[in-house]
Amino acid sequence: MINYYIDPGSGFVLTQNASFVLVIIMGALGGILFFMKAFFKFFKKLILWIVLLSIVIIGGLMTHKIPNKNKVIVIGIDAMDPGIVEKLMNEGKLLNFSRLAKMGNYAHLKTTVPSESIVAWTTFLTGLNPADHGVFDFIMRNPKNYLPYLAFNETSNANGKTEIKIRRKGESLWAKLTKKNVPCLVYYCPNTFPPERIFGKMISGMGVPDCLGTMGKFSFYTTKLSKADEDSRGRVINVENSGNVIKTKIYGPKFFSGNSNLESFTPLKISIYSDEERILIEYGRSKLFLKKGEWSQWGRVSFNTGMFNKVHGICRFYLKSVKPDLELYLSPINFDPKYPLFPISYPKNYSAELVKQVGLYYTQGMPYDTWALTEDRIDEKAFLQLADSILKENQEVLDVGLKDFKNGLLFFYFEGLDPIQHMFWRYIDPKHPFYENNPQYTNIIYEYYERMDKILGDIMNKIDFSTNLIVFSDHGFASFRKAIHLNRWLLENGYLSFEKGADESKEFFDNVDWSRTKAYAVGFGGIYLNAVQREYYGSVHKLEINNLKNEIKRKLMEFRDPLNGENVIKNVYTREEAFQGLYSEESPDLYVGFNNGYRASWQTALGGTPKLLIEDNKKKWSGDHLIDPSLVPGVIFVNKKIELNNLSIKDLALFISSLLGVDVDK
Ligand SMILES: [Zn+2]
Repeated sequence: MINYYIDPGSGFVLTQNASFVLVIIMGALGGILFFMKAFFKFFKKLILWIVLLSIVIIGGLMTHKIPNKNKVIVIGIDAMDPGIVEKLMNEGKLLNFSRLAKMGNYAHLKTTVPSESIVAWTTFLTGLNPADHGVFDFIMRNPKNYLPYLAFNETSNANGKTEIKIRRKGESLWAKLTKKNVPCLVYYCPNTFPPERIFGKMISGMGVPDCLGTMGKFSFYTTKLSKADEDSRGRVINVENSGNVIKTKIYGPKFFSGNSNLESFTPLKISIYSDEERILIEYGRSKLFLKKGEWSQWGRVSFNTGMFNKVHGICRFYLKSVKPDLELYLSPINFDPKYPLFPISYPKNYSAELVKQVGLYYTQGMPYDTWALTEDRIDEKAFLQLADSILKENQEVLDVGLKDFKNGLLFFYFEGLDPIQHMFWRYIDPKHPFYENNPQYTNIIYEYYERMDKILGDIMNKIDFSTNLIVFSDHGFASFRKAIHLNRWLLENGYLSFEKGADESKEFFDNVDWSRTKAYAVGFGGIYLNAVQREYYGSVHKLEINNLKNEIKRKLMEFRDPLNGENVIKNVYTREEAFQGLYSEESPDLYVGFNNGYRASWQTALGGTPKLLIEDNKKKWSGDHLIDPSLVPGVIFVNKKIELNNLSIKDLALFISSLLGVDVDK
């Protein structure tokens, strides 16, 4: 399917090279002129110096190396929560964060409405409100067919060419700094795929798909009769053991050949050793031994996707069990950073250059496989081993960045705390319906904060006093005890209707009678009115909209948990209150800010209406931040005595530019 891609960076590379070549030519010209001077002594010194000086100045301008001496290092830590930071600082466990706060300053950082990573990071990198960059949720909806889609990027196919375009609008901080000739090194910032051409280097982060084009689809090989594939976020592959040998496939991307849609694959052979503790895995040119409870190193895998076309990936296995049943996990197939199907870095070859320095590394934007743990395809121990290896890779890449960094901006993003808190919150919240008092995991979250503290200590030791250091998070964290099916609430309150005879909707609004539906929920707290001239089967007229919005808001604010009488919802924001800007029209009409402990259900996110209104969260995904943004601020630390009061994540782009001594808006 994906055969060609126009590299957005190639034009820029050429321009850069052209100016470089010009300088070499001019330099050579300078040499010739010197030679002539020696030869023809009658050349007047003054004229020669004017010529040489102009060569130096023009050459300097052509390479646009007007140095910006200021240095700013920005470390983005997803989901670092002020409550936990302060608790651990008080216990003397985050010595480097405490040192940083003392040296400079520390404060809470206001997050976005909604407090979702993709929204908050996009606001960080553009300095714009959601309504001005157009990203309102991980999951948005198309009013023409009510179908949800992911907010990262869109793929189009025209004339056999596949192009990927980022959906977010607005200029990034690094694009603005590039215009001011400020060098930038940007690592893993969410919502930066495809990468942009910048004056510097960039590795794209959250939003980079795997080789299948998904946000991370694992495979799970098992001889045990397993749950139906459709219940899994991964692909469950039932295999047969024939004399301790299993023959199966590693599945790659789908592609078109003629008129048929085919699935690429590489044969995979698994041999089970008689000790029943080890296996031999063979595919392509790879041959590796794996013990029970062990992760493999990265291996390369490639798929033929039509004549002369190959997709190159990298993958890792985890052997969960050998006997009585084989259970083998295969990571999502990441793009091989040496030969990615689409550029995942700028310049395009930077992802390959990094391989020389740190070896193969995760390229898929969200590498922590939380779904594999949620589904018990891997256990906590394996998940933590995975987290360790990602963190180790991150540190190695950061070291490369720090060595490269001379001046300008260095941005580095750490995702780890977010998935660790999502998956281990139930071990620290005794009120959680899935609470488990397990001393093995009680301190995991805190230990990860301490690991970030160690990394911070390393950075602080490597930088000089003139470097500005900012560490911040996009939002905090909270418990996710109960899931609210917002579409059920809308149904019970008469705003959503089913077709006759139906009493639930699994997903994508099946069974919904749009002619009798006034409002529907999709994403993690967004409610949309079924508006005439906007929604395909719109039923709410323009004049009704305001009254309807206010009515739903008022009723939602009265929503109590029947079991304990608590307010389920802290705030409901209308579009006018929360989303005023260029792209307001695409925003939800209402955004529901839940109280601590509650969250929109997974089913709600995809337009589902289960039979219950409230459900205990019995999933391992037990902590979250998709609640009222006022309850989950992030944190910010700086190493200089700078006032940080009332700072919001939206202000950081300007704040960083000012530390760099440039006015990006001019
Ligand atoms: Zn986040």
